[in-house]
Amino acid sequence: MGEVYIGIDLGGTKIKGILMNEDGLIVNQYSTSTGNNLDNLFEVIEKLIQENKAMSSRICGIGVGCAGLIDHKNGITIESANLPFLKRFPLRYTLYKFTGIETTIDNDVKMGAIGEMFYGEGKGVKDFVFLTLGTGIGGAIIINGKVYRGITNHAGEIGHINLQTAGPDCGCGKKGCYESLASGSAILKYILYGIKMKRDTMILEKVKGDISKINTSLIVEMAENGDRLCLEALTESARYTGKVLSYLINILNPEKIIIGGGLSEVENILFPVIRETAQLYSLVVPFQNCLIIKAGLGTESGVIGAAQIALLQYKGIEI
Ligand SMILES: [Zn+2]
Repeated sequence: MGEVYIGIDLGGTKIKGILMNEDGLIVNQYSTSTGNNLDNLFEVIEKLIQENKAMSSRICGIGVGCAGLIDHKNGITIESANLPFLKRFPLRYTLYKFTGIETTIDNDVKMGAIGEMFYGEGKGVKDFVFLTLGTGIGGAIIINGKVYRGITNHAGEIGHINLQTAGPDCGCGKKGCYESLASGSAILKYILYGIKMKRDTMILEKVKGDISKINTSLIVEMAENGDRLCLEALTESARYTGKVLSYLINILNPEKIIIGGGLSEVENILFPVIRETAQLYSLVVPFQNCLIIKAGLGTESGVIGAAQIALLQYKGIEI
């Protein structure tokens, strides 16, 4: 009888669930919207358990990754901006009680780093940084093949490195964090400000004057078609990323910096600027020895990492 593991990526809008076998292959999957309580999470897990009955495999563990501050050790979700019902919630125990299956929970970006470590760009790499560029910016640090957690599992909060003392408001309550200047939301704000300042752009025409229809994927599309303002917004974001990467390169001297999240798909526009800026501010030798590269598992790294952490826990390996 084969062993399988449930991996869950509990996001602000969507819950992604997979059944993964011991070789890291996804054998089944089910996704739904997040909703505003735990019902949909239970539904995803129940559905995967039912699907598995037909395959006569044994589910040996569940791993759940969610955004925010997660007490991995005690299995408690401390705070998650987009999941208010998880404030100080014993998620691990609740899921164990519901399923009878050993459960592990952790921050979603740390899960993504674990996914990349075993099946993506982090394979065989002992020291790397995983960065996600999306609506927000997340990070995780892998040192000597282990997740570096720090004393309260906060290590890797790269998005909240301060870049401007009196910069824009950040979701964390501070001002001028890297995330507030370079995330998908910041790129959108840059465009809206440009429109307000009567800058020349084709995007306004594209949405027929309805600015509520402007989103990151449209900005990317327009940039690819040569729109100056859109290109400028993305380049500005990439410069901030490059600067932050120089800090990471100088402090950690990693072998790779792996970039995931929705914005990593815009490789052709962002990566050359990211690399160029990182080089400008990094020490020469650590920069030359660090590969800045797009995530190997795309947007799947988190859910695969969640199943992988369940597998590791079952085998008694702490990561
Ligand atoms: Zn912040």
